[in-house]
Amino acid sequence: MDGSGTPQAAPVLILLGPPGAGKGTQARLLEERFGLVQLSTGDLLRAAVAAGTDAGNQAKDVMDAGGLVGDDIVVAILRDRMAEPDCAKGVILDGFPRTTGQAGALDRLLTDNGQAVNAAISLIVDDVKMVVRISGRFTCGACGEGYHEAFKPPKQADTCDVCGARDMQRRADDTPKTVMSRLDAYHAETAPLLRYYGDKGVLKEVDAMGDINAIARDIAKIADHATT
Ligand code: AMP
Repeated sequence: MDGSGTPQAAPVLILLGPPGAGKGTQARLLEERFGLVQLSTGDLLRAAVAAGTDAGNQAKDVMDAGGLVGDDIVVAILRDRMAEPDCAKGVILDGFPRTTGQAGALDRLLTDNGQAVNAAISLIVDDVKMVVRISGRFTCGACGEGYHEAFKPPKQADTCDVCGARDMQRRADDTPKTVMSRLDAYHAETAPLLRYYGDKGVLKEVDAMGDINAIARDIAKIADHATT
């Protein structure tokens, strides 16, 4: 409720940034701290590919090449996920929207639900360093916790700190060549969204080259302000 007794709409936060900027890591931290649901269209698409759905089969080659999957497919996948009951708590969008077409579709979806974007948080990073960052990263296949050879190694080699599983996995599209294509796609298609959300007055920028916890604190301050 706000001061007038009107129920407040569930918050919507967006994390923007090139591949490797730390969107997934920071979204997970925000999820824990604010009780919101992390929605990663990359994760949803990888699940669709693994399940062999029509959408997954159409998306697979584009993802392997580091391009952007068509707006129709991505918007449909996100719309279905947002209709699930847990999303009523509010969401952190990680990797969506990535085109102005997707941003427009999101606005329409949110308007229909009586919601709006509270903050679009842009993670500012150095492109050249992203290739190094991405080549060192891996994830626990059991619980999804992210790690990095240099910046966040597990305490015990090959063992997840969070769930203890020994099932570390690397993404097929985390190769230097594919990362270059993904960076190109970011600059051509996604960077214009900075202006889109700037014009709406919800764009916030965070220097995301430093320590993960310090960046998380900066983002939490923005999220606190935007959701209360
Ligand atoms: P990510 O896990 O966010 O790095 O996404 C991995 C890949 O999935 C991207 O390189 C794209 O091929 C595809 N993808 C994820 N989200 C989107 C989106 N919003 N629009 C188009 N393609 C996407």
